[in-house]
Parts: sequence; C-alpha cells; structure tokens
Amino acid sequence: MNEILQQRIESVQAGKNITHAQIEAKRSLREQLERDVENFLAEGGETQVLPIGFTHFKDGVIPQSKAQAISNKERLDREKAIELKNQAIREYKLAVKEQKKQRYEAQIQDQIAVMSKFESNLQNKSDFKRLAAMAGYHPQYLKGAAKGRTKLNAAKWDQVKKLVKSFEYSEKRIAKAIKKPTKNPKRKVPSAESLRLKRLAEAKSEAIKNGEKSFIAECKKCGPAKFILQAGGKVFCYPCHLAHVERLKQKRMTKEQVSTLEQKRKRFTYNSELAEQTKLQGLRYFNGLCEKCGLTEFRIVGGGRKYHCVHCSKASAQKYKKWKRENTGATA
Ligand SMILES: [Zn+2]
Ligand SMILES: [Zn+2]
Repeated sequence: MNEILQQRIESVQAGKNITHAQIEAKRSLREQLERDVENFLAEGGETQVLPIGFTHFKDGVIPQSKAQAISNKERLDREKAIELKNQAIREYKLAVKEQKKQRYEAQIQDQIAVMSKFESNLQNKSDFKRLAAMAGYHPQYLKGAAKGRTKLNAAKWDQVKKLVKSFEYSEKRIAKAIKKPTKNPKRKVPSAESLRLKRLAEAKSEAIKNGEKSFIAECKKCGPAKFILQAGGKVFCYPCHLAHVERLKQKRMTKEQVSTLEQKRKRFTYNSELAEQTKLQGLRYFNGLCEKCGLTEFRIVGGGRKYHCVHCSKASAQKYKKWKRENTGATA
C-alpha cells in the first residue's frame, strides 16, 4: 500500500520536474541569444537592414519547380465541376420553391371552393360567425380566407373542412321572413289623412281657378272650415289661425308679466340697499326707484323699518283726505 503511494508521489514529481526542466532550457536559450548579440555588438559587429521585397530568388521570380503547377485543362475541369454542382443546387431550390407555390395555390383554390359552397348553403348569416368561433378564428379573418386573400395553416384548414362537412345549418330567422309581406298591402290602401289632403288640394285648385281668396274644406282639427288662400299659394285653416294668434297673444302677456316681476325685484334690491345705508348714516331721505315716478325722493319711516316714495305717499294722503272729507260731509 505504502509502496504504491510512494510510486505515485514520485511520478507526479517527475512530471513537475520535466515541465520545470523545459522552462529552464527555454530561459537559458534566450539568455544565450542575448549574450551572443551583446558579444557580436561589443566586437564591432554591425546589423544590416534589408530592403522591402528582398529575395534570394533571381529577379524575385519563384522557379516553376517550386510552385504548384496546374494545367489550364485541369483548372477548366475543376471550374466546370463546380458550376455543374451549383446548377444542380439552383435547380433543386427552384423545384422546392415551385412545389411550395403549387401547394399554396391549390389550398387557396380549395379554400375558395369549400367556403363559397358553405356560404351559399347559409340561410342565417350568424352561422358564419358560429363556424369561425368553432375554428377559433375571427369571422373577418375567416372571410378573408374564404375569399382567397389569406392562406390558412394547412393542418388548421383540414380541421375547418371537417367542421364544414358536419356543420348543422340553422334556419332562416322568422321575424325577417314575416316582416316583408305585411308592408306592401298597407301601402296600397290610402290613409284617411292622405284622402283628406287630396280633397283639400282639389278644393284649393278649384278656388284658384275661380279667382277666390277663400274656400271651404276639411281641417284635421276643426272639421269643415274656412281656408284662406295666400298670395304665394299657401293655404291655412282660418279658425286654427285665430287660435294660433290667441295663443301668441297670451304668450306675450306672460312675458310682460314676468318682466314686471323682474323689475319689481330689481327696484326692491336697489331701494332696500340704499335705505339701509341712509339709515346707518342717520339720514331720512334717499333717491330710490318708484314704479310710477321712476327715480325720485324716498323717505325712511316707521323707525327705519320702512320707506316710501314721497310723491306717491303725498298723493295717497291727499286722496284719503278727500275721501274722508266727502264721506264725513255726506254723513253730516
Ligand atoms: Zn282648423
Ligand atoms: Zn312714486
């Protein structure tokens, strides 16, 4: 046991020594070279710089025997062989490309054929969306494929074809089927209103023919009524016109009432503010707005709680005095 271990240690050391010996040899060789150069220079030796392109061959031409001689025929044969190989590669690539193109075209044609047949079988447009959902496509994408704009993945296309084969078409929507026939008979029977308008137009043209400015016809609201013919050929029911004018009048009245109220409010804000200021200044008179007199003298009364127009107040006081005098005179 010990012997084997000892052997191993020795062999590792030997390996180390070899490497060490090699390094030593290289170093001594380098040192030797350096010493030689130093000696050479010390003994008056000179170095010589060689020009660029220096060669020991005559005229710098490498003799034929040294260069590799290739005959023209050999070179041509080699080039020909390379060209043949390249040609074969090109043809192969082209064939593969053509095959791919053909397969592409074939599937596009197949898509158009299968999908157009599917679409012609559809009674309900929502069936197309249903097929797209089953195949996992957006309906718009499948539509593009059906028109040959997009080629579907080959495996996926096989799947779609299977789905189409076993597809259960739903029926036409009933609501749409019923709607159409009901529309036409309605149009054929003229309504009471269109008949009335027709009679009105006839009465109007009759009045124009006779040079009359009014005529009797049927109004939608009033029944038989007087119609007025205007200069421009426009007609209107006279009772309806009167009612319209009346409504306009009332509207205008309300407008006036509203503005009266607004003015009253404005006067109140103006007067009450001025009255407050006047009172604070310890005064009794200010220029306020009176409904009857306009901007005029106002007097604060009732301990500062009230104010009134001086002129109107005098007038009403005189009126009261007169009334009292007349009444007491009557009773006396
Ligand atoms: Zn009317
Ligand atoms: Zn007044």
